[in-house]
Amino acid sequence: VSGKTVVHGATIVTNDERRRVLRDGALVYQDDTILEVGDTESIKKKHPNPEYLLDCKGKVVIPGLIQAHTHVMGHVFKGFTEDGAEEAFYRVCLPMEDYISPDDAYWLSMAGCLEALRFGTTMINDIFHFSDQTARAVEEIGMRAVVEQKVFDVVSLANIADEDYSRDPEKGMRKLRENEQLIKKWHGAANGRIRCWVGNHAPDTNSPELLLAGRELADRYGVGIHIHVAQSRREVSYIKKTYGKTSVSFLNDLGFLRRGVVCAHLAFATSEDIAILERTGAAMAHCPVIMGKFGTFPRISELLRSGVRIGLGSDWVSLNPWDDMRGAIEITRAVTGDVSIQNAARAFEMATVGSADVLEASPSLGSLTPGAKADFVVIDAKRPNLVPMRDVLPTLVYNMTGYEVQHIVCDGRTVLWEGHPTLVDEQKVMAKAQAAAEGVWTKGGVWPPRGQSTQ
Ligand SMILES: [Zn+2]
Repeated sequence: VSGKTVVHGATIVTNDERRRVLRDGALVYQDDTILEVGDTESIKKKHPNPEYLLDCKGKVVIPGLIQAHTHVMGHVFKGFTEDGAEEAFYRVCLPMEDYISPDDAYWLSMAGCLEALRFGTTMINDIFHFSDQTARAVEEIGMRAVVEQKVFDVVSLANIADEDYSRDPEKGMRKLRENEQLIKKWHGAANGRIRCWVGNHAPDTNSPELLLAGRELADRYGVGIHIHVAQSRREVSYIKKTYGKTSVSFLNDLGFLRRGVVCAHLAFATSEDIAILERTGAAMAHCPVIMGKFGTFPRISELLRSGVRIGLGSDWVSLNPWDDMRGAIEITRAVTGDVSIQNAARAFEMATVGSADVLEASPSLGSLTPGAKADFVVIDAKRPNLVPMRDVLPTLVYNMTGYEVQHIVCDGRTVLWEGHPTLVDEQKVMAKAQAAAEGVWTKGGVWPPRGQSTQ
């Protein structure tokens, strides 16, 4: 049990119902819960002798950012797959995933989580291989997560590049059982910071039988499902050819879609698909930056005007939520030609209350209000790129690199202090992750890089 802490003198972006921004604001929290948010003077009068005081003059306090779709260890593909877009995804990334060992998965997850955390992310929704290692990393770093095992029954993800969708049903069921083990071991762990959902990877990498088994598993444990939907040209053309349907209508006809299903990307979702999502309550994880890299983008004006709930995510390779917010604004404006459709406030909502909503974590996450979890980020606003500051949110959203994040409290614990993680050895993680990555690259035949001086 920890004592009462008063954070005072800050500009506080509350994200409450009225979206109040408090100048000279204060926040009181105890254990994992926010008790009160208000102006410094009255809070100090009401709580004259707190256990701890944190002077946040010159700083902005925001709710912890939430990423609705990630694969944190996918940063193993950082820097050499982005320019290859969808081709590199199928021909480089998917084959190389096979070379990641559980130990690699742990160190790569640690480094990926630290990248996300460093820039203000307190929660991720992560589907990948060896996701128990990701859960372990999340627990040790002190973040929050929903994690899923990557469930699929194609013989090899690498074969999809050549449209070989041969199935291995036993492999699919084995992966689903691994997902069930994950739920049994980790769901609700770390004071509830870790939740586990079911991770049917995508409509094309899963047979209808495996999708239905995943649906049944999720229902049995009362958890959600995290799936990629209409993410690539290959997927939508395979589904069309095989079932004569769009990916969304295929899933809907199976009875797969409902509230608690998070669909990543929806890059090729049609107007009818959007209507189905709206009707079923299935939600969207929007990942504008990775879509921009792929040269594709969802029907964003229709989605934004629809009732589909939308959270924001990085997907993988890079995990900077500020880039994602800017992508959500700038790419949207570029592809629609409509400047009024998206703005800083809406992008910030997607990255906070929006993601909390699609991950079924509202109202305890995403805002700084009494009764909410004590998940917040302290930003040093006296940086050249943030000065002068008039309107807080647009200044942050359009200018943050992420390195202005100074302290982070998650679940009432200080997990980042003066830019450094408090619970894990950052330098050790960086060294171990680089070594793990080099091992994976060596097995994948891309290390050392050809034609480059190694100095
Ligand atoms: Zn993804």
